[in-house]
Amino acid sequence: MLIQENHRLSPYTTLGIGGTARYFASPSTKDELAEVLRFVHDNELRCFILGGGSNTLISDDGFDGIVIHPAMKDVTWETPDADGYVTVHVDAGCTFDDVVVEAVKRDLAGIESMSGIPGTMGGAAVQNIGAYGQELADVFVEAEVMDLVTGETSLIKKEDMAFGYRTSALKNAENTRIVLRVSLRLAPFDVDSAVRVAAEHGFAKLTLVSPKSASDMRRRVLETRRSKGMCYDVNDKDTHSVGSFFVNPVVSQNDASRINAAYILSNGKSMPMFSVEGGVKLSAAWLIEQAGFSRGYLCDGAALSARHCLAIINPGNAKSADVIALANRLARTVAFKFKVRLSPEVIYLTRTGIEPVPLDFENLELDNNVRNSAVSAKC
Ligand SMILES: Cc1cc2nc3c(=O)[nH]c(=O)nc-3n(C[C@H](O)[C@H](O)[C@H](O)COP(=O)(O)OP(=O)(O)OC[C@H]3O[C@@H](n4cnc5c(N)ncnc54)[C@H](O)[C@@H]3O)c2cc1C
Repeated sequence: MLIQENHRLSPYTTLGIGGTARYFASPSTKDELAEVLRFVHDNELRCFILGGGSNTLISDDGFDGIVIHPAMKDVTWETPDADGYVTVHVDAGCTFDDVVVEAVKRDLAGIESMSGIPGTMGGAAVQNIGAYGQELADVFVEAEVMDLVTGETSLIKKEDMAFGYRTSALKNAENTRIVLRVSLRLAPFDVDSAVRVAAEHGFAKLTLVSPKSASDMRRRVLETRRSKGMCYDVNDKDTHSVGSFFVNPVVSQNDASRINAAYILSNGKSMPMFSVEGGVKLSAAWLIEQAGFSRGYLCDGAALSARHCLAIINPGNAKSADVIALANRLARTVAFKFKVRLSPEVIYLTRTGIEPVPLDFENLELDNNVRNSAVSAKC
């Protein structure tokens, strides 16, 4: 297996942004990975694991270390148990959506509403991906991981994954474990539970007509996602994003009521919000739109998708700095108008490793850009 030097990273990300990695390796077996780890130790390198690059913003300065891009791609489907449940073991380098395709063919439920989410199985577990009422954590059984420092493999059970909203124990700048394989347990498709889950999470529209099968749910989800630019298409720049750039903020009941009261006063209707553990979840896309930004808003080299206000896209020649500048403009304006701080969902890889996206919330009231930024289609 080849360890490449000064390897360009932008083609490995859905944003198409990023400088070079000092070293790059794509191991397709555990032995190859062990060989890479020997190289890492001999050369005392920093490591970053890159799956499908669909939730990663890489700095234009690249990464001064080794990027490991897992290429293990085996999938094993067990036979159904007495109740029709099926366990599937998926290597980290597999494309997550390929697993969904096979699951719905077998009319299995649990991941069909996550159809069309780009990226790998490894990335899906680390991120605890979710959509339309389903989350990876719901079907996750365990993951086989290898420690990058000791080279030892072990199993992590669901209870040790600390899954949360778009996060897990492995989504952590200090994480030293690479996911090798993930085991999921899928249920036989059941129309009543599909309708109930969609309704409970505010997606009743998706199941107004009862879905006939897991494939039928997949078709509906893909149709909706495409209309929002949320299916990555290499030929469609409007989808060259990391999906939602920010997570939906959870605020106190008081803050939610304050924002809602102001909205009702000027619009005569209530804003979208959902009660969750610890407070009220607001829609980050709604806040951005209400702050005055419209779809397609262009700021230096980066833009908002023409189909979704929460997706920052690379229309062609964006730099990482352009994406960060636009993220700042959105977050600062929302903070100024609603007193809510948006948090990025994206992983930001700099020359020296993972860092928080540099958002600056200082001096909002003095910033004319923040006061006026949303009035035109351009910054
Ligand atoms: C158009 C579009 C739509 C999207 N829609 C959604 C959506 O609806 N819901 C949603 O939740 N997400 C969505 N996303 C975000 C993204 O697809 C998911 O977060 C995805 O799971 C990331 O997987 P990846 O392999 O691309 O991860 P990467 O971006 O490569 O990596 C993400 C993180 O996982 C770590 N990682 C990756 N693989 C491994 C591994 N094997 N072992 C250890 N760590 C690893 C990386 O180090 C990094 O910290 C969307 C993205 C795009 C571009």
